[in-house]
Amino acid sequence: MNIFEKAERLKKLPPYLFKEIDRKKTEVRSRGVDIIDLGIGDPDLPTPPHIIEALKKAAVDATNHRYPSYSGMGDFKETVAEWYGKRFGVELDPDTEVISLIGSKEGIAHFPLAFVNPGDVALVPAPAYPVYHNATMFAGGESHFMPLLSENRFLPDLNAIPDKIISRARVMFLNYPNNPTSAVADLDFFREVVEFARDNNILVCHDAAYTEMAFDGYRPPSFLAAEGAKEVGIEFHSLSKTYNMTGWRIGFAVGNREAIEGLGAIKSNIDSGVFQAVQMAGVAAMRGDQTCVRQMVQVYSRRRDLMIRGLQDVGFEVETPKATFYLWIKVPEGYTSSQLAERVLEDAGLVVTPGNGFGEAGEGYFRIALTQKRERLSEAVQRLKAFSL
Ligand SMILES: *Cc1c(COP(=O)(O)O)cnc(C)c1O
Repeated sequence: MNIFEKAERLKKLPPYLFKEIDRKKTEVRSRGVDIIDLGIGDPDLPTPPHIIEALKKAAVDATNHRYPSYSGMGDFKETVAEWYGKRFGVELDPDTEVISLIGSKEGIAHFPLAFVNPGDVALVPAPAYPVYHNATMFAGGESHFMPLLSENRFLPDLNAIPDKIISRARVMFLNYPNNPTSAVADLDFFREVVEFARDNNILVCHDAAYTEMAFDGYRPPSFLAAEGAKEVGIEFHSLSKTYNMTGWRIGFAVGNREAIEGLGAIKSNIDSGVFQAVQMAGVAAMRGDQTCVRQMVQVYSRRRDLMIRGLQDVGFEVETPKATFYLWIKVPEGYTSSQLAERVLEDAGLVVTPGNGFGEAGEGYFRIALTQKRERLSEAVQRLKAFSL
């Protein structure tokens, strides 16, 4: 056997569907085309200065240079609890119901190791952030995909899950406001999820990365604000999108104490916590003036309006999202998602993400991220106008 033969779990990873786009992007760029990349789910705006200042101050303090506590600094966990109380009306015990994460992706990826046995089922939305399925598979579990359809406002239909799947299901992943569909869920839906989870002994993992990126005064709720949610679930949160801190690697999970404890037990055997200086910067972010968040929302909402108007003018079918910096757009008749993405790249120099990259259920759509300046988005619209599908 080849000494570099990969483990089965790596071989089982779904094919990387952006390979063809990546190759084509390099090729088109080498022709001298000025590419506008609308594929990037990473804020283009900088981290607010007061957060950077807090990091600088904390970084020179030698007491922060040693191993941090596994579950997070007391001050960080208290700040999270205060923020949840103020923002969502959810009460949390900072000692037992909060854990710091090296970005929420880290926590989501490790979570199935704590609660999914080989052969167990995870209920995973589709299309979705790929981590839910891949982490389930790494733990030896099987994903049952719950399609997110436009006729259901991109919410999973819990009644459509077969009984023999439900009886094997240990966890359910959800994500609202949603990447990639930009759909939102209200408290009534979360109440329905709590009831379903309670009836069927399923642990709910809600990924709430985009709750603060919402427009026109809309305030997305926390899953934990649904009555009884804390008895069945955990919520993953991140400072990445709210404070433009994707590179800093800081997030947290909150909710059911046994779920937090299980995740913590896995993590304490894999990592050694978040650099304290970064946690202190996180405290500055959550406790500080939230004007920067309102400004961030303002920037994306103006970009959203510009882009929606432009796309609809050109004839694309797209709804105005209430949250997230994504637009989830119907692929016109006569193309697959991949064909559309290739064509747009080839002929207009625009990178968009084909929906099938988020699972087969995303076929028929493509995603645009509003992570470019308005001038670039206007330019993208101009190029689309010049180009007939
Ligand atoms: C960006 C994003 C996250 C946040 O990841 P971090 O690891 O906290 O940077 C989590 N879930 C989804 C769906 C995302 O799009």
